Parts: sequence; structure tokens; C-alpha cells
Amino acid sequence: MPLQGRLIISTFKLRSTLSCLASRGTGVAGVFSPRGGAVAASNSKMSSSAVLHTSTSVESLGALTVRVLPALQDNYMYLVEDPVTREAAIVDPVEPEKVLSAVKESGVNLTTVLTTHHHWDHASGNEKMASLLPGLKVCGNDSRIGALTDTVQHNQELKIGQLTVRCLETPCHTSGHICYYVTSPDLSNKVVFTGDTLFIGGCGKFFEGTPQQMYSALCEVLSSLPHDTLVFCGHEYTVSNLRYATHVEPHNAAVSNKLEWAKGQRLTNIPTVPSSIEQELTFNPFMRVKEADVMSHCGKSDPCGCDGLPQRREEHIQTQTVTNNLIYTLSPYNSDITNQEDWQFV
Ligand SMILES: [Zn+2]
Repeated sequence: MPLQGRLIISTFKLRSTLSCLASRGTGVAGVFSPRGGAVAASNSKMSSSAVLHTSTSVESLGALTVRVLPALQDNYMYLVEDPVTREAAIVDPVEPEKVLSAVKESGVNLTTVLTTHHHWDHASGNEKMASLLPGLKVCGNDSRIGALTDTVQHNQELKIGQLTVRCLETPCHTSGHICYYVTSPDLSNKVVFTGDTLFIGGCGKFFEGTPQQMYSALCEVLSSLPHDTLVFCGHEYTVSNLRYATHVEPHNAAVSNKLEWAKGQRLTNIPTVPSSIEQELTFNPFMRVKEADVMSHCGKSDPCGCDGLPQRREEHIQTQTVTNNLIYTLSPYNSDITNQEDWQFV
């Protein structure tokens, strides 16, 4: 089991678990926002950050440390640390104050911002980060990213102390989306920050790309990483994603088992990140489009027909017309989930 043996330290910074749960109704899954956030800022989403959606946690992997920092309503920022040199990078620092607090707490030297894509809920903290830390390198692959200093390309490598960061172009959610694959010197630790391309059990909305591009990103680029690579994604969408996955593959025990596990995590506001590439290949329908059951669900035989899967589960639920046989008949699923108190679509 690739996820065993990791040291996980949870630091609850909520006023209290109970108060947070109360504020979120049932507290199991909370309010799910549109996949990958919107292009324009949402006041309700911004203001919701007063109460953390998830406890802060630290993944100490040995030769690489990842500090999981919840942000906004359901975003994650990640502080990546080289424990030897104490140099660090931050992935998508949308809330700079929280980042600087974590940097101070961990005592690292933050040198680099790794921006997955330009959406406000990932990149809007860049300018403030750059102003607070002059000389900060801000990486990304989109001119719409604020304070950008280094435009990175596919397979370009960066250094964070002794850690190697390989940039992976995964256009589709946005045209300039980058995933960052980070390894320790001896390759004993491998992690990938997938932004809004790959979520645990799902994928981001196709804002600026085609199904073929998402297929390439998920089933070629990311699937080809070592399978014990840990996956840290941009949002806490796991429970809703896996509920959808159970509809696609109702007989897949990996899906139902992961869903039950994820529900338990969220009951106590524990993050569901990381998963691993190996795990995703067992339960993420968007990485399993070559599987017979998934193709059957879509009514297709061509794996590249991943456009048969919905970009967003919500789109299917709200779509009252089944336009072709790739889209499931929504009524049984719709009536099922609307009976779940912990679902709320926004
Ligand atoms: Zn996004």
C-alpha cells in the first residue's frame, strides 16, 4: 500500500469542529462549488474562508515535505519543502497571509511560486506574494497569471533545494494549465500537484480545451507517472466526485471503498489528499475510460471518447435532455442524490 508509512500530523485550526460542522449544515460534504472555480471572483466564496474547510496537515515523506493549507471554500495551497536545504515552494498561494504564517511556522526559505493556472482562486494571491517577498520566482504557463516571472514549458525542470520540479503541460481546464511533478534526489518521494486538471476521483471542467486534451492529460501524461506518485489536487471535491463515480461504475469496489473512506475523512474535516496515481487508476472514471464498464456506461468503444463522460456531474444533473446515448438517463440518479441532505449545488 503506497500510502502507508507516511507521517501525517493534523493541526486543527478550526474554532471547533462542531462549530464548523454546524455552519455547513450536515457537514459531510459541505457546499460544492463549480468544478475548478469560476473565472470571476465570487463574494460568497471569498467570504467563506473565515472558517477553514479542512484542517491543516503535514505530509512528511522523508526527503520531501508537503504542508497542506486549506484556502477559500474548498481550495488547497501546498507548501513544498526540501528538509535538507529548507528551501520551499508554494503551489497556488491564493491566500498569502496563510502562506506566510505557514512559512514562518516551518522556518523554510520560500523562493518559488508554482502556479497551476490563471483562475482567480489559484493565482490571485501572486501579486501580493511577490510584493511581500521581493525576488520571489513566480512560475506558470499563462500570461494571465499575475506577477509571472518565469514562463515554464512542458518537461522543463526547476530546482527547489535538492528537489526537482518537472513541469507538465496539461491544457484543457485552461489553455495554460501546468501540473508540477516533484521528486526527491533518490526518487524515493514523488508527488504531483495537479491543480484543476486531476481531482481525486474526477477532473476539472473543460473551460478552454477539448475532451481529447483532457484524455491526453489524464490518461497519457499523468497516468505515465510512477504509480506510487502521490496526488495533491486543487480542490476538496472528493466525496462528490466519488458519488458520481459510483454511478459510472456501481460495481467497482475501489470506488465505493474510497467513497466511504472519504466521507469519514470529511466528517472530521480531514483532507482527502493525497491519493496516488495507482489509486486514481482504480476509481477515477476519467482515468479509466479504457475500462469496459466505463466505456459501456458511455455507450462507446473508443477510449478517446471520454467526452461521453460529463465534464461536471452537475451539468448532467441539470441537463434535462439526454442528447445522445453517452449521457446517462439522469432521473434515477437525480432523485437519489436530491434526497441526500449533504448535497447542495451552486
Ligand atoms: Zn480553475
